[in-house]
Amino acid sequence: MSEKLKPAKLIVIATKSGRVTKKYPYEEPLVSPDFRGLIEIDESKCIGCGACVNACPPNALQLISDKETTVIRYFIGRCIFCWRCIDVCPVGAIKGTRKFELATDDASDLYVHVVHKRAKCETCDREGGTQKMLYYVVEKSPVTEEYLNDCPDCRKKSFVESVAKRRTGGVSE
Ligand code: SF4
Ligand code: SF4
Repeated sequence: MSEKLKPAKLIVIATKSGRVTKKYPYEEPLVSPDFRGLIEIDESKCIGCGACVNACPPNALQLISDKETTVIRYFIGRCIFCWRCIDVCPVGAIKGTRKFELATDDASDLYVHVVHKRAKCETCDREGGTQKMLYYVVEKSPVTEEYLNDCPDCRKKSFVESVAKRRTGGVSE
């Protein structure tokens, strides 16, 4: 059986180890280098793909679309600082910080909105992703400028038609 420590002995031990708490908020909090805090989204890099929204466990990130815009909304109040969104962002638009202080008397301080213009197919008028996503795809894959403003279906149709035209020299079979 372990020996029971007398209160006087405990005080001696506690005094030796010193104070282990900080007088926060009057003193700087102790934040370790690997502490995960709020995220920051770089609007200039974000393409509005929504990958971070899919990866976010507590839905702190949401994708809200209407006819003209797609908005990535970050609600800091729900964020659990897991940083999964950072791992999945294809363009490195999200960075982690060590900030964790959320207290505010204005709820709007807890929201970040990244607004994107939606892309519309020039041929069939169907709405697709965002315009920045389109440019990202063109940069990464061999889609010619000619098809840039078309949705994937119309792009496929025009491509097949142009190949058929080339085969028959423009004369219908
Ligand atoms: S850090 Fe985690 S909880 Fe916070 S927005 Fe990113 S994925 Fe969501
Ligand atoms: S994953 Fe990155 S690029 Fe895609 S919406 Fe989120 S922040 Fe923007």
